[in-house]
Amino acid sequence: MYDIIIIGAGPAGMTAAIYARRASKSVLLLEAKSYGGQIINTPDIENYPVEAHISGFDFAQKLYEQTKALGAEFKFEKAVEIKDEGDTKTVVTVKDSYTAKAVIIATGSENRKLGVEGEDKLVGRGISYCATCDGAFYRNKVVAVVGGGNTALEDALYLADLAQTVYLIHRRDEFRGEEANAQRLRERENVKLVLNSTVTKLNAEKRLKSIEVTNKNGEVTELEVNGLFVAVGRVPENQNFASVAELDQAGYVAASENCRTKTPGIFAAGDNRVKEVRQLVTAASDGAVAATEAVKYIASLK
Ligand code: NAP
Repeated sequence: MYDIIIIGAGPAGMTAAIYARRASKSVLLLEAKSYGGQIINTPDIENYPVEAHISGFDFAQKLYEQTKALGAEFKFEKAVEIKDEGDTKTVVTVKDSYTAKAVIIATGSENRKLGVEGEDKLVGRGISYCATCDGAFYRNKVVAVVGGGNTALEDALYLADLAQTVYLIHRRDEFRGEEANAQRLRERENVKLVLNSTVTKLNAEKRLKSIEVTNKNGEVTELEVNGLFVAVGRVPENQNFASVAELDQAGYVAASENCRTKTPGIFAAGDNRVKEVRQLVTAASDGAVAATEAVKYIASLK
């Protein structure tokens, strides 16, 4: 029996573990993939207090080491269910099941697919969702990035240093991401903005060869590309927990700033929760709040 089980070892989950361990609670972190969450895909974090520049990978590594040093236990198993048994909660994973007094769901989100025919088959053969992981394969080649948020802008900037040409394809003519990065992209000679346009077809033999892009007037252009980086946002991964945590229409946990779900003793922290601002700093903040609430909840048990 643990005091607190945290599902998801991203910035929210690991920060929750730090706070819980400092409150002397036993902690099990369950992670389906590798620790760090989506931040490992960010080449350069420039908006986290104190560190002017740090790569997402280094950030995740430091956070992991800090969490481990405080005595949190990690198991790399995907959690598939939470059973609410009143004062005890059981978390079922693909391998085993574990009990705790409180659970924090910090599962973040996964890549949204573009939804164009053939996309799944071409992953690893021209289509990627992670510029920092796969960008080096496209040195001096022609690539496209789809999306208009911070991820797409940062990916395009990162790839502009490696690739011969980067097309940035966005469905509107205004970017959702930070203007400072949009401006940097406009100044890069090898970046071509393809605005008011969506990717409508993927042409491939063994690998991706070209994409068809349709603008808002219905005009179709074929772009020969070696790689297509999809950065069209993320979707939450909460469906397995819908019986204990109410979800909104988009699948986010309906928990407010105190991170409490509808089930006493079950909390949600980070990008998987309904919130206005999804940033590294707000994920860490949620971790602190959820752990503090969990500690208070445990103290209230008889
Ligand atoms: P996002 O902000 O949700 O942006 C997704 C982009 O993809 C939007 O521009 C959207 O277009 C476009 N899009 C969505 N569905 C599409 C589709 N089916 N076809 C074509 N385009 C589509 O996602 P994100 O960039 O991954 O960022 C997620 C969160 O993480 C944001 O809050 C972001 O600020 C944050 N983030 C922060 C940093 C940082 O602070 N350094 C870095 C990366 C991400 P519309 O704009 O037209 O809706």
